[in-house]
Amino acid sequence: MNIILIGPPGAGKGTQAATLVKKYNMVQLSTGDMLRAARTSGTDMGNTVSGVMDRGELVTDEIVIGLIEEQLKAGDGSGGFIFDGFPRTLAQADALNELLSKVDQKLDTVIQMTVDDKVLVNRITGRFTCGSCGEGYHEEFKKPATHDKCDKCGAVGAFKKRADDNEDSLKTRLMAYYKETSPLIGYYYAKGQLQQVNGLNSIHSVGLDISKVMAGVS
Ligand code: AMP
Repeated sequence: MNIILIGPPGAGKGTQAATLVKKYNMVQLSTGDMLRAARTSGTDMGNTVSGVMDRGELVTDEIVIGLIEEQLKAGDGSGGFIFDGFPRTLAQADALNELLSKVDQKLDTVIQMTVDDKVLVNRITGRFTCGSCGEGYHEEFKKPATHDKCDKCGAVGAFKKRADDNEDSLKTRLMAYYKETSPLIGYYYAKGQLQQVNGLNSIHSVGLDISKVMAGVS
């Protein structure tokens, strides 16, 4: 099953995608993660997108479509793909349809994670990850058992925050979401592919709702 998780920054797309990877052996395709990896390894593309990302603006369609194309061609999608943070524009949504049909795949469902804007600032500004294993934490909702030590891999002093997880960038990211990405909700609704889950519920409960949606369309 190939699914899209759609929702504003902080809706919980990455958190839920990680659960789906473990539960159903799916492959998570996060353009945000791919772009951050390109920045860290200092590729030309990574250097080009760096300022754009820090400001919270969208990277060009051409770049992100290219990244997804590479992954679809190379990746073993036998467990299905989770598109996380892609598509974010109508041009990207059209490109995804074409790319999937080229590899004899189709999109099964689009899950919109609904949240209240008011909770997003708190969710985003409080989150951090382990730089060693990628485990996600939050200053309020998911603290590590021992300060400065990752519960999952035991790394000490490896916690880091995303450069764009601050209030200024979040404003721009939210604006980009409403302007460029929210039209996709109408687009997928019209195609009969849109489902919704309440992203304000607990991580566990949102996960169960997503599994129910997936069971309903399979
Ligand atoms: P994310 O990790 O999904 O929040 O993405 C972080 C940043 O990467 C975004 O604010 C954009 O600058 C860029 N980005 C990620 N995915 C896309 C996309 N599909 N289209 C355009 N820009 C993207």
